[in-house]
Amino acid sequence: MTMVIVGGGLAGAKAAETLRAEGYDGRVVLVCAESEPPYERPPLSKGYLLGSDEREAAFVHPVEWYAQHDVDLRLGARATSLDPSMHGVDLASGERIRYDRLLLATGSVPRPLDVPGADLDGVLYLRELPDADRIKAVLGDGRQIVIVGGGWIGLEVAAAARHYGAAVTALEVADLPLQRVLGDDVATVFADLHREHGVDLRLGTGVERVERGGDGLAVVDSAGDRIDADAVVVGVGIRPAVEVAEAAGLAIEDGVAVDASLRTSAPDIYAAGDVAAAMHPVLRTRIRVEHWANALNQGPAAARSMLGQDVVYDELPFFYTDQYDLGMEYIGHAPPGAYDRVVIRGDLAGREFQAFWLADGRAIAGMHVNMWDDGIDPIKSVVASGRKLDAERLADRTVPLEAV
Ligand SMILES: Cc1cc2nc3c(=O)[nH]c(=O)nc-3n(C[C@H](O)[C@H](O)[C@H](O)COP(=O)(O)OP(=O)(O)OC[C@H]3O[C@@H](n4cnc5c(N)ncnc54)[C@H](O)[C@@H]3O)c2cc1C
Repeated sequence: MTMVIVGGGLAGAKAAETLRAEGYDGRVVLVCAESEPPYERPPLSKGYLLGSDEREAAFVHPVEWYAQHDVDLRLGARATSLDPSMHGVDLASGERIRYDRLLLATGSVPRPLDVPGADLDGVLYLRELPDADRIKAVLGDGRQIVIVGGGWIGLEVAAAARHYGAAVTALEVADLPLQRVLGDDVATVFADLHREHGVDLRLGTGVERVERGGDGLAVVDSAGDRIDADAVVVGVGIRPAVEVAEAAGLAIEDGVAVDASLRTSAPDIYAAGDVAAAMHPVLRTRIRVEHWANALNQGPAAARSMLGQDVVYDELPFFYTDQYDLGMEYIGHAPPGAYDRVVIRGDLAGREFQAFWLADGRAIAGMHVNMWDDGIDPIKSVVASGRKLDAERLADRTVPLEAV
């Protein structure tokens, strides 16, 4: 019996670990396009970029772990095609590996900036460890950094750049950073946070082009301003790495479409992590979650499913961020248009609060900022309960959450 895992990110590495933990003693091949053993990406824009975490701290397992657990770790190996009818996967080296079950954990890739000059040296993206090294090398006192995109990655890099004393200009086409994810009230908290830390945040502003300028680059923004930059860091979103699955004829719905047991449309092929668009049994819709906790939990769930266990993946999406002294955790699923009210509980201006996204009186998502004594668990209970809530009582911090 051979289990092949394509993609050595968090989802793939956790799947390999789970196969062994569940007692499976057949062959496991982990095919990794990158040359590093599987690692977690959140430190790349936080502790590792800030210089407080060692490189090795990001690794899912020490490199010896794979041999110790008889996992055939193929680094620098890219799967180029898949043959579902023959149960074979082809690598760029020309090798074909036959599988009994296969997991696609190919993650996602940054969307490129589509303007003239975007291919100049010094226009950087952040997805892999070497990207973090490149960005770290250009952050420093007196440096000028332009960030394109006020999403999670852009904002975390802005915070890191300010930490090193670089001058930061951040361009965001929307009226607020994170506006689509968080709505105006909470998004304003992030805009204020960055401005207070000296970021020149330009909202409603896109990029016209990037040019060579002085010793480095210059970004011409949509208002016609020319901003000198030692480096431009682009964070304009990601797309799921579906090429191999798509070419093999698997059903694609934004990501690789899987059922609640993480099975794709092809026999014996599963998908997990950023690349998987999974039917969520509670939300009753297919969702693709581009977050750490989803890779952490879905990889193991897919492994159990591959072993023939009854698996229903029903975890609520969860994510977090750290920027300066702001820590945040968010749970649930509240895409734009799905909620009709945001209730704030606590001190928004003081950046210590909980927020709930309500649809028809029920909380479909909730978060907290810097409320670590309570953490995310009580918020999760409120969201998971699916109960109708009294919004006035919910907003009143003197009413305990359990009593709302
Ligand atoms: C800088 C950064 C910071 C982040 N911070 C947070 C955070 O604070 N909180 C949070 O919740 N989430 C965060 N995320 C998101 C989180 O890291 C991802 O959701 C997670 O990495 C997804 O894991 P994955 O295993 O599905 O995919 P990935 O981590 O993308 O791994 C997929 C792997 O598959 C490989 N691969 C792709 N195609 C092939 C192929 N054909 N053959 C072989 N290998 C292939 C890729 O090279 C890659 O190594 C962050 C992401 C980044 C980039």
